[in-house]
Amino acid sequence: MKRFLIFLFSLIVTSVLSNACSTSNDVISDKNDVKKTRNIILMIGDGMSTPQVYAAMLVSDSPTAFERFPITGLVKTFSKSNKITDSAAGGTAIATGHKTNNGMIGMNADSIAVPSMLEILSQKGLETGIVVTSYITHATPAAFLAKNINRNNYEEIAMDIAKNDKVNLLIGGGRKHFNNRNDKIDLIEIMKDNGWFYSDTLINSCDGDNIMILADDGHLPTYSERGDFLPQATEFALNKLNKNKNGFFLMIEGSQIDFAGHDNDSTYLVDEMLDFNTTINKVLDFAQKDGNTLVVVTADHETGGLTIVDPNQAYTKTNFHFSNGSHSPLLVPIFSYGPGAENFSGIMDNTDIIDKILKAYEK
Ligand code: MG
Ligand code: ZN
Repeated sequence: MKRFLIFLFSLIVTSVLSNACSTSNDVISDKNDVKKTRNIILMIGDGMSTPQVYAAMLVSDSPTAFERFPITGLVKTFSKSNKITDSAAGGTAIATGHKTNNGMIGMNADSIAVPSMLEILSQKGLETGIVVTSYITHATPAAFLAKNINRNNYEEIAMDIAKNDKVNLLIGGGRKHFNNRNDKIDLIEIMKDNGWFYSDTLINSCDGDNIMILADDGHLPTYSERGDFLPQATEFALNKLNKNKNGFFLMIEGSQIDFAGHDNDSTYLVDEMLDFNTTINKVLDFAQKDGNTLVVVTADHETGGLTIVDPNQAYTKTNFHFSNGSHSPLLVPIFSYGPGAENFSGIMDNTDIIDKILKAYEK
């Protein structure tokens, strides 16, 4: 009771003080500060935990994009079937809020299809897009676009993507799953007939309603060969999607951070991390200017069991050391910026992310 009275008293004092000090202009600007979330940009560094983030900080000449975020948290990544998740179950948990078995795409552990945040937000009137450097049919993007019991059913996943009327922009690789299929169906031609604009290469601008750019038959090449594809594709996506007055949802994946971890290749890893870093900087610049954009950066799991140690145990060198060529169960970081960002601090489950994003949008 005493505590309640003190609370009540401090509330009265605060309101008296703020009334005494504020002008009517202040009140208006206060109201304007309660920004509405119009756009949501979710960025997934596949295989990126804190060692990968710190690797980027160690090699970067300037502060990294990660250091621009006001809110950070940690995410548990285990799947329904395994202590260590794969990208299918990890992507599905983030995209749909359901823990599922490793290997499964867009379904809960009982093999029942569940909607992704892309599909839910599309129904609320947002334009939606996916930008990746892997197959567009690969586990992470597939978790947002398709439903399949097995992540390796790439041609079935491509069929789901072609039929998905909730997505407006697709940029990545995996062309062969669309136009060089066992069933001889050319999904690209079918999509064009259904009003999609299609291109094999990144273009500067385009006014089409729905746009698909598949820049490779397989995964895109590594950073050293593909150059600034990811930041450029991101810029293209932001320009296209931002034309919708109801806002947009965009998922951007640093897909090959995971590939570098599987390869235990630290040069490849650093390249991919710096490429993702450049892309995050672009997204944050957009969000800062826009003011109504929530940016969330996280990962599905860690890859490679990366540690950063001095092999001589003298605390003088920092060598990258991989434990193995697979995933690990490490917590992954989550970074957030913009209206609704405050919900992403603390330790959470990967299945909590969708609720926090939808709550930010509905606020
Ligand atoms: Mg992936
Ligand atoms: Zn992996």
